[in-house]
Amino acid sequence: MKIAILSRNPSLYSTARLKEAGEKRGHEMLVINPLKCDLVIEKKKPQIFYNGHLLEGIDAIIPRIGASVTFYGTAVVRQFEMMKTFTTVESQALVRSRDKLRSLQVLARAGLGLPKTVFTNYSKDTEALIKKVGGAPCIIKLLEGTQGVGVILAETKSAATSVLDAFQGLQARVIVQEFIKEANGSDIRAFVVDGVVVGAMKRQGKEGEFRSNLHRGGTAEIVELSEEEENAALKAARVLGLGVAGVDMLRSNNGPKIMEVNSSPGLEGIEKATEKDIAKAIIRYIERHVD
Ligand code: ADP
Ligand code: GLU
Repeated sequence: MKIAILSRNPSLYSTARLKEAGEKRGHEMLVINPLKCDLVIEKKKPQIFYNGHLLEGIDAIIPRIGASVTFYGTAVVRQFEMMKTFTTVESQALVRSRDKLRSLQVLARAGLGLPKTVFTNYSKDTEALIKKVGGAPCIIKLLEGTQGVGVILAETKSAATSVLDAFQGLQARVIVQEFIKEANGSDIRAFVVDGVVVGAMKRQGKEGEFRSNLHRGGTAEIVELSEEEENAALKAARVLGLGVAGVDMLRSNNGPKIMEVNSSPGLEGIEKATEKDIAKAIIRYIERHVD
């Protein structure tokens, strides 16, 4: 098969591993920068030009679209869909997963556990907002944040009020969330491919840090999921329509609470922690779905 990885950087760990895993299984692997694709939209003849050349004969794509290029990246994925090319992540699901609030709404509707979350159009009554998530300590998150930047633990009601007032004053959109204290600065990442958890890790923040992001100095190790956690991860990926998903959960006293579902989950942390060939699992997913 001819498989294209949509990625801006061939030297990224995830991109390089997917290319390697595909080649090992006998496929022709291309890395295509989605930002260098020109889309020709014409009746019944959708085409993509890459660096001036017509792209032809691609059987499947693996989108690895960064959050900052969601708009153009998903347009490229959609064009491949028009050309009937199989994609490990559909454009609609990609767009939906990038909208954190909409994702939380979909997950809540499906009956999945989430930290109680409040969103407001800059309400002045910040005390009431804090009360709705059970008071302080609580978590305040900038909606546009990634990699743990813009996630704040407000220890007291007055800290929470002043942070909220400051963000709202800057017209920054935030959510206020129940703080899951018993997670103890750790979270669980379940990596789902085609309805199966192919690997799971527990990430632990460094001493004194409530955020477990690897980018913030956290460490990761392999973890065994409970049946409830596994089911929650699979259902989250399913209701968001993601063939490949990184489901982030907190272990709370009343079961797993889903924080976020990532549609371009990184391979490095999970492969190193679990010593599993996650890239191969993604290639095999394509093999099962394309003849
Ligand atoms: P990002 O998407 O920027 O990584 P997250 O929402 O995943 O932000 O939060 C970063 C980290 O902060 C999480 O991995 C988790 O360890 C911690 N965290 C986030 N929300 C909560 C919460 N409601 N309760 C406890 N810890 C949380
Ligand atoms: N983009 C990375 C992922 O989705 C972030 C990992 C992390 O937060 O450490 O896995």
